[in-house]
Amino acid sequence: MALRRPMVAGNWKMNGSALLAQELFKKFAAKLNNDAVEVVLCPPTVYLESVRQQLELHREALNGSIVRMGAQNLSQHDFGAYTGEISGGMLTDVGCKYVIIGHSERRRMYGETSDVVAEKFAAAQKHGLTPILCVGESGPAREARRTFEVLAEELDVVIEKNGTMAFDNAIIAYEPLWAVGTGKSATPEQAQEVHAFIRKRLSEVSPFIGENIRILYGGSVTPSNAADLFAQPDVDGGLIGGASLNSTEFLSLCAIA
Ligand code: PGA
Repeated sequence: MALRRPMVAGNWKMNGSALLAQELFKKFAAKLNNDAVEVVLCPPTVYLESVRQQLELHREALNGSIVRMGAQNLSQHDFGAYTGEISGGMLTDVGCKYVIIGHSERRRMYGETSDVVAEKFAAAQKHGLTPILCVGESGPAREARRTFEVLAEELDVVIEKNGTMAFDNAIIAYEPLWAVGTGKSATPEQAQEVHAFIRKRLSEVSPFIGENIRILYGGSVTPSNAADLFAQPDVDGGLIGGASLNSTEFLSLCAIA
């Protein structure tokens, strides 16, 4: 039986502030007290330093609770003339352990192709970061019963470029596009079905990785639907957007996981 520590990762997207970091850590220090879950905060890049400071400040009060930092994106390049971009090395430098890769908003609004996503996955690992790879089908794809096909495609591009063994140091987030930011979460059964599919696909190449990789669910997770989603055998926690901006809700999600 694999020991997969549940993870609750907060994706602030283009929201939040240094004040939110302070507020969250005040609550964590008082109430988190839980080393059974790994908590990851992914603020906008400019607030990584604020989160890092809060983490240092509250280290003792966190009393063994595991709180880490992640970024929302990185460049596939190491350095150079890429105005506005941030490299993996820079993220490691400011204390990130994780980086979200291939979020649907970046694929859709910023034209990130699966090939670019695969390159970013490699760049993250090269710089010592653990990628949180987002995959998910659109509403029309689900209606056309193409969910597994889309997921297999998204995974295969990354596997082809990086090899299955690269997933030894990765997290996958299943985020159906129709559930992200819509208030309409996948049902626990829908999430479980897809998570089991992803795990099986990786198991075919490496049973060890299939068994051990953490697969998060993301898309309109709130304290009222999280318990049923997180209770599914192949759901190892959540990637949380909207609810990660409310310190009370986020703390309650950490407790549920
Ligand atoms: P949501 O976002 O929780 O607001 O639906 C999830 C995500 O995009 O990671």
